[in-house]
Amino acid sequence: MTPETASSSVAVGNPPVRRLAAWPVADLRDLATEHGTPLYVLDLDRVRENADRLRRAFPDAEIEYAVKANAIGCVLETIADTGLGAECAAAGEVVRALDAGFDRVRYTAVNPPARDLDRVVDLAAEHDIAITIGASDTLDRLAERGWAGELFVRVNPGVGAGHHAKVRTGTDPKFGVPGERAAAVVSEAAERAFDVRGLHAHAGSGILDADDLDTHRALVARMGELTAEIVDRGIDLDTVIVGGGFGVPYRESASPLDLDSLATATCEALGGVDGSGDPGVKLGIEPGRYLVADAGVLVTRVNTVKETPETTVVGVDAGMTDLLRPALYDAHHAIRSLARDAGERETMSTAVAGPVCESADALARGRELAAPTRGDLLAVGNAGAYGYEMANTYNSRPRPAVVALDDGESRVCVRRETIDDLTRLEVER
Ligand SMILES: *Cc1c(COP(=O)(O)O)cnc(C)c1O
Repeated sequence: MTPETASSSVAVGNPPVRRLAAWPVADLRDLATEHGTPLYVLDLDRVRENADRLRRAFPDAEIEYAVKANAIGCVLETIADTGLGAECAAAGEVVRALDAGFDRVRYTAVNPPARDLDRVVDLAAEHDIAITIGASDTLDRLAERGWAGELFVRVNPGVGAGHHAKVRTGTDPKFGVPGERAAAVVSEAAERAFDVRGLHAHAGSGILDADDLDTHRALVARMGELTAEIVDRGIDLDTVIVGGGFGVPYRESASPLDLDSLATATCEALGGVDGSGDPGVKLGIEPGRYLVADAGVLVTRVNTVKETPETTVVGVDAGMTDLLRPALYDAHHAIRSLARDAGERETMSTAVAGPVCESADALARGRELAAPTRGDLLAVGNAGAYGYEMANTYNSRPRPAVVALDDGESRVCVRRETIDDLTRLEVER
């Protein structure tokens, strides 16, 4: 295949974003009828396409999937099969990533609980596990446990990116060691015989437009400079991990992230390490959302339609317990009616509300929808990342079922939780 035909086939068969309108409406209706609602539908073929696009844009980078975006077994197995590594935020994620077949795992120890360190160090005896520390006393805690393996030092880059203050980690002192302390922490780790591999930084979540790209460029350049300083001190570093945060267009009007521009900007900014244009270190990225967001939708049924002086309240059977992002971050998710005659209905402004007793429990407000009627199905887009993963059982609401689409077939990956499940951890009274 010539490069021309390769890129045109990517453009046709593997678009940079899958919009809600591209999901097969009749199939979603059938799945909702068969499995009930609320229901997550995850398209594993789309996950593979996203992995493929990342690999093409960053052919020389170490790519690790940030497991916290979606840790369901069928998703992890799909991503492990593409050859990516796993970036884990807790011991539970490390266990699940290894179970799913990832053979390279990195644990990012943010204020790590003792139980998590115990478990990860145990697993590291038999598996290829690296650890990223974000505080120098984590070195003591790892040394006490007899571990001195592959180590990264997380640096607080002092720059943040993201769609909401609550997802900007790059300026929050909780994350990473301050930039001016990085060289000292790396030196200390090297002296204590840890196998120091490099620096790590993550600015936050949601790089999408040109401003975000500038922030990202600044972060990568800063990491490059810090690495150069440390290498000058005679410590050999081989990798710079510049985080995840690759955004997806939650708004239908937003353009998709230009992965190639991001890749070029990243490599150029890192290439400044010694002015030669050759970074001299390997690049690492750890996207979560980008791999799974547009591979998932949440299907929900309309319970109630209520006219009020302010708006039409559309009460649906999915709420903040199923998809927390709107309540937590004021996140926008596209919503469309799956009704057969939706195209012929008038559109109207609505509030799409869940069944939880909290005023934050709305999936959308002021949203134009094809006039809904009781019993209609609605689909909520870009629900594959931080959707099921953040689901909880507040109000004693069981969590939804998850169905996977895989090579034309559908199968249940996670069964619907039951009310009996909710009490199964209670000790007999
Ligand atoms: C959450 C997280 C990521 C992934 O962020 P996305 O926005 O999902 O790409 C990557 N790295 C670290 C350290 C994280 O905490």
